[in-house]
Amino acid sequence: MFTENIRWRKMVDMRSSDGFYPSPVICLNDKEIPGLYVKREDMIPYSFGGNKARKALLFFKEIDEGDYDCVVTYGSSHSNHCRVIANMSAARKMPCYLIGPAEVSDTTFNSRLMDILGVEQTIVPVEEVSDTIDKKLAELKSAGKKPYFIAGGGHGNTGTQAYVDCYEEIREFEQTNGIKFDYIFFASGTGTTQAGLVCGQLLNNDYRKIVGISIARKNPRGRDVVLSSIKEYFNECYPEKGITSEQIEEKTIFLDDYTGDGYGKDSNEIKSIIKDSLIRYGMPLDATYTGKAFFGMKEYIQKEGIEDKNILFIHTGGTPLFFDEIIG
Ligand SMILES: *Cc1c(COP(=O)(O)O)cnc(C)c1O
Repeated sequence: MFTENIRWRKMVDMRSSDGFYPSPVICLNDKEIPGLYVKREDMIPYSFGGNKARKALLFFKEIDEGDYDCVVTYGSSHSNHCRVIANMSAARKMPCYLIGPAEVSDTTFNSRLMDILGVEQTIVPVEEVSDTIDKKLAELKSAGKKPYFIAGGGHGNTGTQAYVDCYEEIREFEQTNGIKFDYIFFASGTGTTQAGLVCGQLLNNDYRKIVGISIARKNPRGRDVVLSSIKEYFNECYPEKGITSEQIEEKTIFLDDYTGDGYGKDSNEIKSIIKDSLIRYGMPLDATYTGKAFFGMKEYIQKEGIEDKNILFIHTGGTPLFFDEIIG
């Protein structure tokens, strides 16, 4: 057992079915939207939390159970995913090789954390990232190493599974507290957070709207990536359920109206909602992910006139970005 597992474990009497703390859900006591709650994934107690911590825990479960001695992944110097993977690798004294695009390689709080955690970085022009990963894996294997490869952002069925688990936590919260969320909103990027939530919904046959707010990708591509993650998960994990494409399509709502200029580019509107959230709720958001999603959610609520519904916002983390982008 490694430190992060022990730290995550609940007291026996509070333990959820899988033995881990659910992340906290709080009511914002917002006057205009009284039923607005936030699931604070940013408070997952490992390496500043976030959805990448939830996904990484499952990747490292596979690493711990398998025969691996190093980790290879990729992402920019802003990547929350790379920071968490670097942290879990360092805890195991496993070398962690990061491939990053030169175009986004400026110094950030995440990159400084990765430096402290002792990652080995290879920075190349973005179009060479994919080949460089292949070369790095081949090089390690021919040197007799056993690398575990993690796709950027924790993409793939393991990442999806992490958010099927999160969906179960949401259901447990609802049952314990006698509440039912009519809507769930969150920032959608490479899409497995959304894929996992939709898979959880389909497995439970729940009625509600799960709304992913794109932080970069436009439709149809953005939504297609989510759809294919969902299909891949059901094909591999639940082929017997016979979930159809129509069922999947019906449940997958991917809004691309709030992307601004995409990753890392922020508008004054987003900055002002981030400041407002800090003042009103004491809750940090960032300009790349959660700020856009929170802004998009508020607009959607107003447009649809659903202020009286029970609404859950999933705070997907990114606290180091709050310091980069808002504090500076
Ligand atoms: C990566 C990330 C997302 C997007 O998650 P996906 O599963 O890639 O869609 C959202 N918020 C934060 C803070 C992230 O780091």
